[in-house]
Amino acid sequence: MSVVHILRAELELATAGAVTAPESLTIGSVLRPDLPVARDAWDRPYLPGTSPAGSLRQQAHRTGREEALFGNVRPGNGTDAPPSETVAIASPIRLLGTRLDLPQPLEPAQQLEIRRRTAIDRHRAAAQPKTLHSRELLPPETKILLWLRLDTPSLESPLLDELVDLLATWRPVVGRGRTTGHGQALLTRVLKRSIDLDTADGMRHWLMTGGPALVDDHATVVYDHEKDAVPSLLPELFGQPLQFRITDALHIGSGNVLDRPGHRTGVSAILRDHDNLPIVPGSTWKGVLRARCEFILRSVGLNACSSVGENAGPCGDCVLCEAFGWTERTGAHKQAPPDAEPPPSVGARGRLVFADTVVRESTVRIRNHVALDRVFGGARDAALYTEETIENGTVTVSIRHDRDIPELARAALLLALDDLAAGRFGIGAGTTRGQGTLTALSATGHLLGRERTRAVETLRLHHAALTEEAPA
Ligand SMILES: [Zn+2]
Repeated sequence: MSVVHILRAELELATAGAVTAPESLTIGSVLRPDLPVARDAWDRPYLPGTSPAGSLRQQAHRTGREEALFGNVRPGNGTDAPPSETVAIASPIRLLGTRLDLPQPLEPAQQLEIRRRTAIDRHRAAAQPKTLHSRELLPPETKILLWLRLDTPSLESPLLDELVDLLATWRPVVGRGRTTGHGQALLTRVLKRSIDLDTADGMRHWLMTGGPALVDDHATVVYDHEKDAVPSLLPELFGQPLQFRITDALHIGSGNVLDRPGHRTGVSAILRDHDNLPIVPGSTWKGVLRARCEFILRSVGLNACSSVGENAGPCGDCVLCEAFGWTERTGAHKQAPPDAEPPPSVGARGRLVFADTVVRESTVRIRNHVALDRVFGGARDAALYTEETIENGTVTVSIRHDRDIPELARAALLLALDDLAAGRFGIGAGTTRGQGTLTALSATGHLLGRERTRAVETLRLHHAALTEEAPA
C-alpha cells in the first residue's frame, strides 16, 4: 500500500488580482465588466486550479524538474521509445482544488474592485478611443487555499521534500496584469497531512473523511512565512523607489460618477484603493513611461515601436517590447504580406513590474470645468462638468523587474523618468491644462542627476553601433 500526502497551501493576495472569465459574458450581460472574475456555479468568485498548477509548473521548470513533478506529453526522442511515438508521463502531484476567502464578511459582489483602463494612442499621446475596458478584481488580503495530493510508497520521500521546497520558493501571481502589479500573492503557510493507508488509523481517516476535512488537527506545518521569510518582493530596477510630489493637481478617473444631492451634475470620481486612498494605478505608470521611452529612442534614431501609420503598435523586436512586453492583437504583424512567415510568437510578457501607487498627504478637492462657446465667447450651455482632483500629495513609484532588462531600455526609462520629473509630460487627465505634473523629491532628483550622463552615453553608443553597421 502507499501513503497519501495531502498538502494545504495558504496564500494571501498582496495586491488586487483575479483570474478573469470573459467567456462567461453573454448578450444579456451589458452591465457586467468586460473582464469579470471567474465564478463557480453558485456565482461565487473562484480560482481555477489550472492557474496555480501552471504557475507551480513554471517554477519547477526553472530547476529542470518540470517533467518529474508535473508530468508531460511529448514526442519520443528515439532512446526510450520509437521516434514516432508519443511519450506521456502522468503528473505525480495532483492539484485537488482551491477555495477563496474574501477579507470581509460581506457579499462577494460588494467587495470586488472594478478597474477601468485604456490604451495610449502612440501618436497623440492620449487615450485611444474604443479601448476602454473594465475588469473585476478580488481585493487584497483575499485568502486562497490550495489542496495538493502526492502519493508515495513510504512516509518519507524525496519527492515530497522537493514539493515542499518548491512551494517555499514559489512566488505566486494570480491571473492577468502581472506587469501592472496585479495578483501578487504571498504564500503564508503550508500544512501537510500524511495518511498512511497501512495503518488502521490512516485507513479510517481516509475512508471516514473527505475533501478539505482530510487536512485535520494531525496536520503538521511544513512552511510558515513568519519563520521562513523569504524576500518576496522583486528587486527595484534603480535600486530605490522613486518619489515625486504633485506640482499642481492630478486626476486619474475611476470612470464612476458620484451623484451630488442638490447639484445638476455628478462628480467624476478619482480612482481609490480598497482603503479609499487615492491611487495612481500601475497601468498608468507603465503606459505613459513606455510611450515616452519609445519617443526618446525614436528621437535619437534608434529602433523602437512605431507610433504612426498602419504599423503603429508594439513591433515585437525592439528592446522596449522586451522590457515592457507586447501582444500581437494591436501589433504590426497583421500588416505583413500574406505569404510571409508567421511570427514565432504572438507576444511576450513584460519584465518590468509597475505596482499601484498610493498618493500620500494629499487633499482631494472638487473642481468645476466648463466648455466655452466659440461663437458667443461665454460658457456653453449644459457643458459644465465636475471632477475630483488630488492636490499636494506625494507618490512613491516602485519599478521592479523579474528578469534582466536590456541596458538600452533601462537608459530610456531613466531618461523618461527624468522628463517626468522635469515636467515635460504628465500623468492622468488634463495634462494639457496644467494637471498631472510631478516634481522629483530630493533623493530621486539626485538619482536621476547621477544616472542621466550614463544613460545618454548608452544611447550614444547604441547609435554609433547602428551607423557603423549601416552600409555607406
Ligand atoms: Zn517594439
